[in-house]
Order: sequence, then C-alpha cells, then structure tokens
Amino acid sequence: MNDVAKTNLLGLTQPQMETFFESIGEKRFRAGQVMKWIHHFGVDDFDAMTNVGKALREKLKACAEIRGPEVVSQDISSDGTRKWVVRVASGSCVETVYIPQNGRGTLCVSSQAGCALDCSFCSTGKQGFNSDLTSAEIIGQVWVANKSFGTVPAKSDRAVTNVVMMGMGEPLLNFDNVVAAMNIMMDDLGYGISKRKVTLSTSGVAPMIDKLAEVTDVALALSLHAPNDELRNKLVPINKKYPLAVVLDACRRYIGGLGEKRSLTVEYTLLKDVNDQPEHAEQLATLLKDFPCKINLIPFNPFPHSGYERPSNNAIRRFQDLLHHAGFNVTVRTTRGDDIDAACGQLVGQVMDRTRRSERYIAVRQLNGEAEAPRPAVSRT
Ligand code: SAH
Ligand code: SF4
Repeated sequence: MNDVAKTNLLGLTQPQMETFFESIGEKRFRAGQVMKWIHHFGVDDFDAMTNVGKALREKLKACAEIRGPEVVSQDISSDGTRKWVVRVASGSCVETVYIPQNGRGTLCVSSQAGCALDCSFCSTGKQGFNSDLTSAEIIGQVWVANKSFGTVPAKSDRAVTNVVMMGMGEPLLNFDNVVAAMNIMMDDLGYGISKRKVTLSTSGVAPMIDKLAEVTDVALALSLHAPNDELRNKLVPINKKYPLAVVLDACRRYIGGLGEKRSLTVEYTLLKDVNDQPEHAEQLATLLKDFPCKINLIPFNPFPHSGYERPSNNAIRRFQDLLHHAGFNVTVRTTRGDDIDAACGQLVGQVMDRTRRSERYIAVRQLNGEAEAPRPAVSRT
C-alpha cells in the first residue's frame, strides 16, 4: 500500500478511531491505547507502542501513519513565547504560537492557510486564502508544541493548558476539521483540556455560530472591532453579510444555550483615530448593554504598510476606563512575542494565495511607490 492511501491517525477523534479499528477487523478498545500513545506521549512510531502486539503493529504500519505537520522553524522569544512555522499539505506554511503566563501555557492555533475574509487591519487577511487545514494539521500544532517540551509523562505536566483558535484563518469556515480537532483537545484520551480553556475566535460568521452551539460548549470570542455597522463594514467586511444585530443575536443564542453556561469574550482591536475615540467606547457600552460578556482590548500590532497605527497608552487606558465605568469587565491584551513576530496580527506564514489578493495588495503598494520588502515567515496570536 502506498503512503497516499494510509490513514493519518493523528487527526481522528475517539469515535473515528474506534471506527477505524473496526474497519480493519480489530477491537474498539485499541482506539484508546493508540490515542494515548499519540497524544499523551507524542509517539509517531507504532513500534514504540509497547502494549500493542507485534502483529497489530505491523498491520497498522501497512495501512496507517501518525504524521504531524512538518516543522519549518521554531523561535523562542526573550519573554518565553515560542513560535513554530509548520508546512501543511497544500504547501503553504502556517504559524502556531505558545504564550506562557502565570502558570498557564496558551497555544494559539491556526485553522486555515491564509484567510478569505480580508479584515482591513489583519496581516493574515492580506495574504489571501490558500487552504483549509485538516484536523490532523490543526491538532498536529498542539502535538508539536507539547512534544517540544520533551516527552509528556502525564496530563498535569503538559505545557499546553489552554488553546485559542486565534491563529491564521477563520475557524468557522473550516468547521468540521476545527470541531474534530477541538474534540481531541478536550478528550481525556487526547489533551484533556476543559471546554472553558478552549476558545474559538470568529469574525462573526453568524449561521456557523448557531451550528457550533449544536455540537460543542467551547468558549466563544467574537472579533467585534467596531460599535456600529458603518465602521464595522469597513474593518470586518463579512459584517456586510452578517451585520451586528445578526451576529450579536447568534452570540446571545450561543451563550444562552442549553447545558452549562458558555462564556463569551468580545475582542476589540484598537486602531488609532479609527475606533479608539471616547464616542466609540460609549457606543460600544450601549451596544453591549445587558450582554453577558467580557471585553478584551487588543492594541493594534503593526505590520509593514498596514496603514494603521497603535493608539497611545493614554488612549488605550481612556477607552478601557470608559468601559469599566459603564460596568464591563475589560482587559487589555499585553503584546507578547513581538520580537519574533508572534504577536496578534503579525502572523502571516507563507501562504500560496489562490485569491490573488496578495498580488493586488503588493501592486497597490508598488503604485504608491512602496518597495516590496521581503517578509520573514511570521504569524499571529
Ligand atoms: N479569524 C478569527 C481568528 C483569528 S484572528 C477572527 O478574526 O476572530 C485573532 C484576533 O486578532 C482577532 O480578533 C483579530 O481581529 C485580531 N487581529 C488581527 N489582526 C490584528 C492586528 N494587526 N493587531 C491586533 N489584533 C489583530
Ligand atoms: Fe481572517 Fe480573522 Fe484576519 Fe479577519 S481578522 S482576515 S477573519 S484571520
């Protein structure tokens, strides 16, 4: 059997793994054994699976594989942040960022190579879109990160305690693969991360938020960035399709759904003189009145020729204070890893753009007399 036909076990959820073992005439309990080897111990060699008999190991070698994404580079920042550039099957590269903080280790995971949604202040968006990541390529980022800290003897010692789907791409536009990967993150046979510690960030694909509510309880983050439709249409173009009222209703349904309480964070990237004025904070407070959410302010992380600037610290504090006084729980995201281009909005990978948007972007920059500087492979948190 050649490689193409082999099943990559890395991206299979527990039920899928059980079905796989049944399909090769083996008992379902093998799924648990093999998942533990893969995800608890970072194993990619069937011969290392000592509780699996030799005959079955040989059978597995013939029809299956455990193949993580190829790690192109790993950088470690002076503040402990780590960034990996990994190559995915489409040939593009995406980025994964690990942020250690207060005893936690948060991994920012990519879901697509590039992004089709073209938010005006996002470097990933400027790369255009190339491909959806497979579930193996998504969970493979968690696998690679944990392996980089050495063999993982027990769940409690794992480096990655939290995952945010805030890397490259719009996770709700790669729904099935993202949900499968998140299920492996939360499964005890996978990474055992509680659903409160897995966060999916979306720019607001409203119908998919409802679909998400049907299959999972993970924490949701909504990338809002503007307090009215006119401004949001410019910053987050998908707002023209799903305007604020529609998106906020979908979020309300998500957090109000059956089962345990789900949490919602509203993300708001602060852009100097664009959305950072007191009247924006006031409008935002009115828009989100009675909306059960936390607000996370993200000072804009610059990238070349973005056309935007980060507001001053005073402007950021003023914006935060106004929301605070209106009764909101507001945090400001500290910039981490910017010496290795791993901060929010700095993730660009090396996307082989199928939309040709990046060509148009470069052409406009050249028209404006701006030289095209080679960009290093970088990514976002
Ligand atoms: N596509 C998803 C998830 C990835 S983006 C989404 O848009 O939610 C993660 C967060 O970083 C989003 O809130 C996004 O708007 C924000 N972001 C993008 N570019 C940024 C930049 N240059 N500076 C600061 N935040 C940025
Ligand atoms: Fe895509 Fe999110 Fe960037 Fe918008 S902010 S272009 S949705 S990755």
